[in-house]
Amino acid sequence: MEHSERSFRAIIVGSGITGLSMAHALECAGIDYIVLEKNNQAVPHAGAAFILWPHITRILDQFGCLDKFREVSQPLRCENRRGPNGKLIVQTKLSSYLERRKGFSFGYPTLSLDRRAVLDVLYTTLPNQSRVMTGKRVASMQHTQDGVEVVLTDGSREKGDIIIGADGVYSTCREYLWNHANTRSLGTITITEKKAFRMSYKCLVGVSSPLPDLKPYEPHVCHNKGFTILAYPLCDKICWGVSIRTDQEYPWPTKVRYNSQDIDTTAASLMSSAVTETLLFGELWHARIQATLVPLQEGIMEHWSSGRIVLVGDSAHKMTPDAGLGGGCGIEDAIVLTNLLKDEMEKKGVVQLDETQIENCFLAYEDQRKDRVKILLKLSGRCTRQRSSGSLVQLLIGQLLLPLRQKFMWQAMSEIVAAGPSLTVSPCNGARSGRSSNRSLGYMGTRQSKKERTNALNLLLAVPVLLVFTLIFMLSYYY
Ligand SMILES: Cc1cc2nc3c(=O)[nH]c(=O)nc-3n(C[C@H](O)[C@H](O)[C@H](O)COP(=O)(O)OP(=O)(O)OC[C@H]3O[C@@H](n4cnc5c(N)ncnc54)[C@H](O)[C@@H]3O)c2cc1C
Repeated sequence: MEHSERSFRAIIVGSGITGLSMAHALECAGIDYIVLEKNNQAVPHAGAAFILWPHITRILDQFGCLDKFREVSQPLRCENRRGPNGKLIVQTKLSSYLERRKGFSFGYPTLSLDRRAVLDVLYTTLPNQSRVMTGKRVASMQHTQDGVEVVLTDGSREKGDIIIGADGVYSTCREYLWNHANTRSLGTITITEKKAFRMSYKCLVGVSSPLPDLKPYEPHVCHNKGFTILAYPLCDKICWGVSIRTDQEYPWPTKVRYNSQDIDTTAASLMSSAVTETLLFGELWHARIQATLVPLQEGIMEHWSSGRIVLVGDSAHKMTPDAGLGGGCGIEDAIVLTNLLKDEMEKKGVVQLDETQIENCFLAYEDQRKDRVKILLKLSGRCTRQRSSGSLVQLLIGQLLLPLRQKFMWQAMSEIVAAGPSLTVSPCNGARSGRSSNRSLGYMGTRQSKKERTNALNLLLAVPVLLVFTLIFMLSYYY
């Protein structure tokens, strides 16, 4: 290796799931970094239920923290999907199916826990926690002659080689990136791109004390017209969320904020909705420990980098939470970006990269990530819409056809899991034999196998026959 005056240093903005995963990945690759977090603690007090699919638990194994995650979580075994009156439609066992299909999941489990625990483990297992600096809100940033500099609201400054914007859906880094790109070449970031994130769902999220009706680690998803109730019992609490379609779509720069009155009004409209055959939402609400109402944006940015600044996680792409894929997607970003930076350094035999090398890495990162993110985004959006049965067709698919064609969905998820990236610099300690992690996806027309095409055709042919039965089935639910 050539020795330069100083080694390469990344400034990560935000210590959410993506920022902390980025820190772990850079740590594994031996690349210097700091994390700047505006909040006073790295780990917040509250959080919704969180699913870690096998391609993500494999990455956590590479970070060396999977055992800690196993200690604070349980494998997800089944999911009870219910109709508007709480009646069971089907019990799915996707996670056990994935785990059994070691060729797809590499033998890794699907874990369920709460978001706070995810952040806690990611933070406490970082070898060097002092690199995560809390109470440090980034106010502005600039490119300097040979690097970057960020200015914090407390007046202090940090210098580095790149800025990694892991600062979430209302990203400050993204706004700087837009200005930088348009100053370099006017018209690069268009209004259409700026409006890429749109909100047409909101989520009432909460945590309640345990209730006898709900067995731990057996979640319930209750399909409804215009909303979906998810109740996720853990051993000492019930995490729940209600995704609700909004009456209109809100594009950027509208920042929808809800107050306590909005929370109460939304909850009041759900009180008599069923969660199961024996439990109403009102009972969950009365047992609540905390609750909040958040907007659910969806979309993907066209440009993820400009100069020495790059976006990862929710700042670059945002999806609805129903499929439990958004946070994992940010973790995948961290892996792909780290692999590319490390490869470039090793190829060139240097510990420092110049601006052209950095920009090439960032463009390769965007290129490798976008197709997969678009697939995950589409899948998440479909999941949200089918469950909340926005139209008659979606109601049919969500309530009857898909439960009957479970394997079709399972195949799609298996392909997503199998194509997840892994760190090139770190071994998978518990790796089992599996397919290459770089396989292309076989879902939604990207590269479907003959079997999947036959499945899709069967599904279409089944529609007219099932239509009659479905109408009878729906009438029995609504009347
Ligand atoms: C109800 C719900 C359930 C979900 N369930 C799942 C699930 O089961 N599985 C899954 O994979 N995903 C799930 N998701 C999605 C997942 O939570 C998000 O995709 C993920 O948390 C995004 O992480 P992030 O680090 O990119 O952004 P964020 O979590 O938004 O973190 C950004 C961080 O940057 C900090 N920050 C912002 N601005 C600044 C600044 N100027 N200076 C310094 N710091 C700053 C913030 O304080 C924050 O800590 C769910 C989402 C919701 C809403």
